[in-house]
Amino acid sequence: MTAYVLTPPPVASVAVVGTDARFPIRRILCVGRNYEAHAREMGKDPTRDKPFFFMKPADAIVDTGSNVPYPPETKNLHYEIELVVAIGTGGADISEEDALNHVWGYGVGIDLTRRDLQNAAKDAGRPWEWGKAFDKSAPIAPLHPASAVGHPAKGRIWLSVNGTVKQDQDIADLIWSVPEIIAIASRSMRLEAGDIIMTGTPSGVGPIVAGDKVVGGVDGLGEISITMV
Ligand code: MN
Repeated sequence: MTAYVLTPPPVASVAVVGTDARFPIRRILCVGRNYEAHAREMGKDPTRDKPFFFMKPADAIVDTGSNVPYPPETKNLHYEIELVVAIGTGGADISEEDALNHVWGYGVGIDLTRRDLQNAAKDAGRPWEWGKAFDKSAPIAPLHPASAVGHPAKGRIWLSVNGTVKQDQDIADLIWSVPEIIAIASRSMRLEAGDIIMTGTPSGVGPIVAGDKVVGGVDGLGEISITMV
């Protein structure tokens, strides 16, 4: 048994539908610009050239129903609704054909983004962490096991702010599919059980402020709901 000089931090985790047992999180991998219309609204041409990734810390997870404090150092906090993939079996160099066998389940989450800090980082050629990887930047609704819901490849993905729909598209519009994302990511780094992949957001991103109620969903995977405070 390893001795530690400090009490180890708690295991980050996300809720699972139908059980009190939670899914433990190792890390959160996020795909950038994975819907054409969103790439365009970010001022970029959509491309099938190569996907790119960034990460959030595991303990950025926030449960649905939470009050989320408006984060510091930003004046332009954005919502991004995303299909979430939970890896249940690790592997490196996973083939597209085998990729879905590594998936434990699916959910819906919000990639909260300090857009002003992200844009400043882009302009300066600096890393994105200060725009993307802040505290409580990953609200994620309870996961659904693939054993119950299968492997959804189409279905409405949407988000509303105070009841007004802002994002409304279909996960079939992903530029890079879930099997492709898993195959490509696992060529660069070994994926492990407990890894979560946020697959990118459709168009319609925009700002939220304290007091806003943000609700989103993916057909068949339930809803995420947070209140900014
Ligand atoms: Mn995103």
